[in-house]
Amino acid sequence: IYTLAIETSCDETACAILKNGREVVAGTVYTQIELHRTFGGVVPEVASRNHLEKIAQVIDQCLEKADMALQEVDHIAVTYGPGLVGALLVGLSTAKALAFALEKPLIPVHHIEGHIAANYIAHPALEPPFISLVVSGGHTHLVEVTDYTTFNVIGQTRDDAAGEAFDKVARTLGLGYPGGPEIDRVAREGNAQAIDFPRAMLESGSLDFSFSGLKSAVLNYLNSCRMKGEAINVPDVAASFQAAVTEILTIKAMEALKETGHKQLVLAGGVAANSDLRQRLSAALQKKGYAFYYPPLNLCTDNAEMIGCAGYYNAMAGVRGDMYINAVPNLKIGSKMGQ
Ligand code: ATP
Ligand code: MG
Ligand code: FE
Repeated sequence: IYTLAIETSCDETACAILKNGREVVAGTVYTQIELHRTFGGVVPEVASRNHLEKIAQVIDQCLEKADMALQEVDHIAVTYGPGLVGALLVGLSTAKALAFALEKPLIPVHHIEGHIAANYIAHPALEPPFISLVVSGGHTHLVEVTDYTTFNVIGQTRDDAAGEAFDKVARTLGLGYPGGPEIDRVAREGNAQAIDFPRAMLESGSLDFSFSGLKSAVLNYLNSCRMKGEAINVPDVAASFQAAVTEILTIKAMEALKETGHKQLVLAGGVAANSDLRQRLSAALQKKGYAFYYPPLNLCTDNAEMIGCAGYYNAMAGVRGDMYINAVPNLKIGSKMGQ
């Protein structure tokens, strides 16, 4: 079975072709990061216009890399939410047009279920059930994955997502965009114990997160340094902030495993690229004898390979989209179409 997948939910225009769900035949991604850097964040209208300009050539390049013709593809998988509505619509309309013209099934995919599925590509032996810690630009979720298409959210952020906190704090520190990789890099030179930033919701007994207080604490710290005329040690602030985030994520992920009895943790989303988070989780999980999976860097941030993999399992479970499906900017994890 060959899956052609399209992803345009945010600022990456991506296409991939997979064989039998987990084997990547070819993948292409055009990232708009340079385009949005001037603005310090993704500008939705700029993103959708650029997807429109690039989508056809990204698909053509992917087919060329795979040395395949469109007719050889068995179905078309596409992200239909969550994300920016204008950006999503470009990929979705393209996928509909392809499915209609080729008379092949259209398989709608949830972007976050795609992030989780990136791990199936990277780890051929990985199977549900497991707990997934999804940490991305827009999400911080603990998800119980009981089979390939069943997702149960057991914890989530009440305000900012982890990636959002990284990006905002990086901006206040005068670091580049996107902020996550910048903080990761700068923090290596800093002392993570230098500043004692708050760890929210640790004693709450729930698996939810909150990062907006931490973001304010960093701002307050910087302001008080400035008022007192004290020098700001950027690496120390970055390292201390990062430690606060990764410590909370690790503790809650361990709690989720304990509560549910699952023995595997699967890390997913752009923040899964964070080196401190990987190290901290790895140490904690190893101590308890749990298995730990995370994707390689190119499969952490947005790509179409992950959408193809999730799409394949959706297709196997009977999920289908028709020509009337719409982009859903705030699509909930676990909602399924055509079942
Ligand atoms: P969502 O998947 O929730 O819709 P998104 O697609 O915009 O949001 P991703 O592409 O999955 O998000 O991830 C981007 C986020 O990952 C950004 O916030 C970025 O700063 C963060 N990120 C990337 N690399 C790192 C890193 N090494 N450390 C921390 N954060 C990182
Ligand atoms: Mg992106
Ligand atoms: Fe994403």
